This record gives sequence, C-alpha cells and structure tokens, in this order.
Amino acid sequence: MHAMELRAPGPVDPTDRLVPVERPDPAPGPGEVRIEVTACAVCRTDLQVVEGDLAPRLLPLIPGHQAVGHVAALGAGADPALLGARVGVAWTGGACGSCRFCASGRENLCLELAFTGWSRDGGYATAMTARADFVHPLPAGFADLDAAPLLCGGAIGYRSLRVAGVDLTAARGLRLGLFGFGASATIAIQLAVHAGASVYVATRSAPERLAAESLGATWTGGYDDPPPVPLDAAVTFAPSGDVVVSALRALDRGGIVAVNAIHLDGIPAFDYDLLWMERQVRSVANVTREDVREFLARAAAIPIRTRTEVLGLDEANAALRRLRAGQVAGAAVLSMG
Ligand SMILES: [Zn+2]
Ligand SMILES: [Zn+2]
Repeated sequence: MHAMELRAPGPVDPTDRLVPVERPDPAPGPGEVRIEVTACAVCRTDLQVVEGDLAPRLLPLIPGHQAVGHVAALGAGADPALLGARVGVAWTGGACGSCRFCASGRENLCLELAFTGWSRDGGYATAMTARADFVHPLPAGFADLDAAPLLCGGAIGYRSLRVAGVDLTAARGLRLGLFGFGASATIAIQLAVHAGASVYVATRSAPERLAAESLGATWTGGYDDPPPVPLDAAVTFAPSGDVVVSALRALDRGGIVAVNAIHLDGIPAFDYDLLWMERQVRSVANVTREDVREFLARAAAIPIRTRTEVLGLDEANAALRRLRAGQVAGAAVLSMG
C-alpha cells in the first residue's frame, strides 16, 4: 500500500513532515477489518498530531481519522456481513467496553480509548485496519469524498451541539452562537438551522462570514462584536482560549459554552460575573459510536451538504499547510484514486 508517514512531529511550514512510503498491506488482527481507503478528510487535529501539539502515541504513524473505503478483508471473528461494505472510520478507534464510562454510555471518556491516526495508523493511506465494531456503514446519499468530512467534523459538531444543551428536536427559537467557522461549524450550522434555531456566527474571516450567511446565519460578526441578542448556547471551534471568553460574554443566563478543542494554550482569567447565573463552560471530548450513527442518519435525512477541496494523497503536506494558513474553504479531502 501507499501511505504518508509521520516520523518526527514538528511545524508543517515550511518542512514536509509526512513522507510517502510503500508498506505491505496491513493484515487485520482478531476482530479487525482491512479497508481499501478511497478518501480521507483532513482535520485540524491531524495538524496538532503532526506538529506535536498532541504528544506522539505511535511513531512512525500514518495520520488521518476521517477515512472512507470498502472492507476488503476480515480478521478472525469480524462480522462477515461487513465484507465489501462501504464504511467510515472516525477518531474513536476503540474503547475497552468494560470501564465505568463505557458501561454508562460514555465510551468517549474511556480510560483506554484508541485513536485512529494518533494511537493507531489512520487513513492517509490506500489501506488501513480498523476494529470491526468501530467502523460505520455510510448512507448511500453521500459520495466517498463528501462522506469523509462528516466522520469527524460532522460527528463532533453534532456532539458539540448536544454538549451545549441544544436539543435538535426542540430547537425552534433557540439562539445558538458558533465561534469560528471551519469544516465542523459549516455542518453544525446546517443541523441547527434545519432544527429551527437562530444561529449567530462569529469569525475573523470575511469569506467565512459570507459562507455562514449563505447557510442561514441570522447574524455574523467578529469574535468581539456582541451579537444583537444574548445567546442560549454557544460552541467554540477556534483553537483559542480568548474565544471561549468571548463566547461566555455573549451568553444569556443559564447558557452553556461547549469548547470544541482537544488542545488549547489556555483560557485567560475572566470575571466571575461572566459565569454567574448558572452559565457553564464545558469541553467536548471525542465522540461515541452512537454520536456518529445518529449524526449520519440525520445528515442523510436533511441532507447535509459538505464543501470540499480535493487533493491527492501525496499532497497531504500541502493540505496541512493550507489548513494551518486558514486557506481551506470547507474541508480538505485526500483522494486515493
Ligand atoms: Zn478530527
Ligand atoms: Zn472503557
């Protein structure tokens, strides 16, 4: 198989951190499948893995945790019905199934989580293995390249809305703020607008403000522009602690800010008055398989539209640089074809 391999994490600009390599096709272990990968979307978390903001769990490593492909081989004990199926692989690549978090429907908090493209090899490759019980059959309505960004950006956007207290079955009239407007937010806004919420989008980028308006935003502005009304809920997507405080400042009484970031440099000190009146700040950590399944069903029903910028597998370094520079419109997707 052909793959892009990380050997030494570090800044992606100007150095190429990923090296093209040929490896034998990986053999699926017990309970695993081998997938012939056709597409893998590029996530900001990949950038944090490649640059070393997230400490290495495996080196050399093949990054990528939004992979789409067909199951080509089964390991011992894997469900035979999966053979040939079109599936997606997401960030949560395995959980123990028995700890008190797994036992209470919170496998995203499992103490022994495996992470696709961080603690095990991911989808920047023409083939990969995955746990058979952690792959997701994909709805027919999405082409491979369009399905890939749903697997992290979409699923984590869905979970973020839930963590922010948004009930998508009763969101009419809800005032939701989205702070930062990358790939994940472009999907979250579609879920929220479809559910009847009014969405207020704050971002530094003028093209992103236009994109938000075209997807139904009620208002757009900069991070420090106060929205015209206090918000019931907010999600921060920007990897900056300042933005968490801006979001908190925009909240109404009882509102929740969900922080969608694996890594933040810090949150500046803020006045307790911003938190008073039962406002909350919560982090969003990983996704459960249930999140991915529920989100994919909802995405197919709406249907969610993804904006993609397609690059070849060997252009993965360029994709990461473009993401770092804020030059990607929507989601960058590597095509293995
Ligand atoms: Zn991701
Ligand atoms: Zn567990």
